Amino acid sequence: MRSNSSPEPGFARADFTLPRAPDGSDAVYLAGNSLGARPHAARRALLSAVDDQWAAVGVAGWEESGWWAAPQRVGDRIAPLVGAAPGQVVVGDSTSVQLFGLLVAAARLRPDRTVLLSDAGHFPTDRYLATSVARLTGLTLETGAPPAMAPDERTAVVAVPAVDFRTGERWDLAPIVARAHDAGAVVVADLSHAVGAMPVDLDGLGVDLAVGCTYKYLNGGPGAPAFAYVAARHHDVLDPPLTGWTGHADPFAMTEAWTPAPGVGRLRVGTPPMLALLALDGALDVFDGVDLAGVRAASLALGDAFLAALPAHVEVVTPREHARRGGHVAVRVGDAEGLCAALARRGVVVDARPPDLLRFGFAAPYVTLDDARTAARELAALLA
Ligand SMILES: *Cc1c(COP(=O)(O)O)cnc(C)c1O
Repeated sequence: MRSNSSPEPGFARADFTLPRAPDGSDAVYLAGNSLGARPHAARRALLSAVDDQWAAVGVAGWEESGWWAAPQRVGDRIAPLVGAAPGQVVVGDSTSVQLFGLLVAAARLRPDRTVLLSDAGHFPTDRYLATSVARLTGLTLETGAPPAMAPDERTAVVAVPAVDFRTGERWDLAPIVARAHDAGAVVVADLSHAVGAMPVDLDGLGVDLAVGCTYKYLNGGPGAPAFAYVAARHHDVLDPPLTGWTGHADPFAMTEAWTPAPGVGRLRVGTPPMLALLALDGALDVFDGVDLAGVRAASLALGDAFLAALPAHVEVVTPREHARRGGHVAVRVGDAEGLCAALARRGVVVDARPPDLLRFGFAAPYVTLDDARTAARELAALLA
């Protein structure tokens, strides 16, 4: 357990192995908004799951090693990171699968409504799924920019991200949730670009349902399972579409009909990817005892250092204002793919998003102020 009430940028760097730069040194790794770096604790947890659990006890691991309970146990470790009281978060499937389940379940909470309102700039999987869920549930899909969304008496569901995946703009969820609730709609928030980068207060905001990715700022590893949040007030009535056996109230009774598990457990679908889930469990050690407001402040300081070192002519699409900035900063460049590759050759790992954006992710646990300035300097050199 770390005691670090006011973390500085790079406060947990010693707890990570960073990808290599071409010269063999540690890369300046600013792709944590896409895939977080590897915490030592994730490796240890994964090796222990393979050697001490799977190899040693076999099938008994479902009970003896706590595998069966792990989706909710790990969910309860994520809960404080998103402002959720215990018992409202479950981990198991991909963000896309969890989102599908929650969008349909949200629509079923408002059977008398006709519209699914979604962010026009939502991450592709969120947009594709909203389109399919609207078709499946008979809702009409309408889209808009989050601040301009105007839900009304027709709106069943409002689907919004906490941060725009492309521009890095942070949305103020409070007025969005308030307007949705005034109109009688249910809010499904996607926290993929927020969790682990900044405090989120799901209970305080009154968000109804939420999902989030764990391989970005939570460093759970490639394909780490996502989490789903269901506010306790919906637990008894939530009607998920994927009625898999592990979400049954008594799965080993193997009964004829599906009876939902109490609480958020009904969102479980099939046997979860246990090795990935246990690697995530280890990765979460990085956040033990860490003040997320401090992580957020450190991430903003990194972004500020980057922006200050950037030549004035570079077009920054992310708002500079702290309240409107997420965990990454995006700049518009001509040939984003080419510059991304050129930066990688100089030991700076970022990513490109079409058509012309480069994203610089400021994951405070392992990114230092020097890293942020180096990235700006290398970009400037390439653009000169
Ligand atoms: C990263 C991300 C996802 C990822 O979905 P997967 O199912 O894990 O591939 C979904 N939504 C948003 C907003 C994301 O940022």
